[in-house]
This record gives sequence, structure tokens and C-alpha cells, in this order.
Amino acid sequence: MAAKKQKQSVEYDPPPPCAHDGCGYSSYLRIHTKTGWANVCQRHYDGHFQRQADAYCESLGLHTIEQKKQWLRDNKLIVKKVPVTREPGEDLDEAA
Ligand SMILES: [Zn+2]
Repeated sequence: MAAKKQKQSVEYDPPPPCAHDGCGYSSYLRIHTKTGWANVCQRHYDGHFQRQADAYCESLGLHTIEQKKQWLRDNKLIVKKVPVTREPGEDLDEAA
């Protein structure tokens, strides 16, 4: 009788809590702050980079969405939409 291979489960330590005071979520991400690295949850990770983006826009004097879009257009950071030459499903018709 062949020996049955048993899957061994690996147990990991639970992730540390988010570095923000009062946040009850586990941390899965790391950010570099002024005081060093911090383990944070997804919400605080997103908030960190949103605040950086907001500060950058503020430094450029961009306050409204339209101002920000215009700045992107002026700096050629918006790629123009490529015209659709094929409709969805058109390739499937050719294969048949
Ligand atoms: Zn958090």
C-alpha cells in the first residue's frame, strides 16, 4: 500500500495591527513615513497616498477636477482614446 501524501498546513502568525491609533484592522501593507516604516491597513494605505496626491495638486494650484484634468492635458499625461476599429465579438465571427 502506497503511503498517502498528506498536505501539511502551514500556520502563519496573524498580521500585526494597523499602526494608526484606534484602527482595528490588520496591517498587510507598509508605507514609509517621516518617522520610518509603518504597517497599515488598506484604508490607511490608500489615505496616505491620497494625501500626498492632494498636497501635490495643492502645490500646483489645482483645486478643481477640471483644473487637474486640464493640467494633465497640458502636460500630455492623458493618452488620447484610440478609435475603435473592431467591435466586440467581431473577431469571433471571423474564426467561424
Ligand atoms: Zn488602519
